[in-house]
Amino acid sequence: MKEIILIKDGELALKGLNRRSFEDKMVATIRRRLKGLGKVSVERAQSTIYIKPIDEDFDFAEALDRMGRIFGIAAFSRACVCEKNMDDILEKAPIYLADTLRAIKTFKVEAKRADKAFALKSPEICREVGAALLRAFPHLRVDVHNPDEIITVEVRDYAAYIRGGQIKGAGGLPVGTAGRAQVLISGGIDSPVAAYTMAKRGLVLNAIHFASPPYTSVRAEQKVRDLLGRVARYSGVIKLAIVPFTEIQEEIGKHCPEDYFTLIMRRMMMRIACRVSENDGCLGLVTGESLGQVASQTLPAIASTDEVCTMPVLRPLIGMDKEEIIAISKKIDAFDISILPYEDCCTVFTPKHPHTKPKKGQCEEAEKNLDIEPLIERAIAGIEYSYIE
Ligand code: ATP
Ligand code: MG
Repeated sequence: MKEIILIKDGELALKGLNRRSFEDKMVATIRRRLKGLGKVSVERAQSTIYIKPIDEDFDFAEALDRMGRIFGIAAFSRACVCEKNMDDILEKAPIYLADTLRAIKTFKVEAKRADKAFALKSPEICREVGAALLRAFPHLRVDVHNPDEIITVEVRDYAAYIRGGQIKGAGGLPVGTAGRAQVLISGGIDSPVAAYTMAKRGLVLNAIHFASPPYTSVRAEQKVRDLLGRVARYSGVIKLAIVPFTEIQEEIGKHCPEDYFTLIMRRMMMRIACRVSENDGCLGLVTGESLGQVASQTLPAIASTDEVCTMPVLRPLIGMDKEEIIAISKKIDAFDISILPYEDCCTVFTPKHPHTKPKKGQCEEAEKNLDIEPLIERAIAGIEYSYIE
């Protein structure tokens, strides 16, 4: 029996005139994500996208799995292709739906007749298919108000399709519809979740990571790559910049008051991230900060880092509890990587009594003996770029 995947878009329906370009982005993403699974056609008609395998050995299960990670898809389903006549529909429906129907007690049939020339009208299609399913599965009952499963028969231009319930999609907006931003990625739990959350709103992601060898190890860098790999399953390819940060941390240690170490370090990260972003066409930064979580995430501390930023800083986790963040981390399979115990540059030099409520001007004063501009230039010159898929 030939099977296809039917895709409905979600929030796209709200976008009026932009709808077409949003759909184009989504179809392009779908085509890209289906690469390597076998020959397939992707077509669009009346707010539905049809994925039709052409190769016999097309990897259907993997395709379904990947469709669940494409933003912009609200729901999708697998469907059986029939000839456009009732004999074929009535023969295939009980066979194709057998597993689904054995597991439930009540159902209802809905019909969509895009081809108005089809011999039967929608209510007649429903009646005949419903009767055939009741004959084949006598334990079933029809419940039009609250069925366990809705069976849908669609009669379209070249074929008819039978399908059971829908699978929930990843939601959000297609990647690429909101421009590009740079996520500051650490090896922790929060920043990969922040990256995923913003990709879900349509952003293409670049990533920047500050590494402090030899205080931080190659394994810590690999952890960051692995985490971004989890995000890339949703967001698509991510350009990663790894910035050598050791010299800057050592210089802060030498020339600035100890209790300002973290604040000044974060200001340096932000300055460099903005500079790199401008070169790479990013319009904003993304961090995994959550208000009050640690000393550097108080409102005055956040204000002191924002002071040195030349672009908006998006903090999608700002109002979330750790449990909520962990739930998303687990959902995207990042959690087990995040909790591996490799050191981050932030943890290496943490002061004993960090300043949490800097007043305006105090950070400038504390960093006045730092030779900021040459440090930034050297760090940027030492960046290593790679692409994570
Ligand atoms: P995370 O779990 O994301 O590491 P955290 O709760 O440990 O966050 P901090 O260490 O204060 O919090 O970092 C706050 C944010 O700063 C991170 O979410 C991340 O966006 C950014 N950040 C921290 N360390 C680095 C790093 N080494 N490279 C790039 N960005 C970093
Ligand atoms: Mg951290």
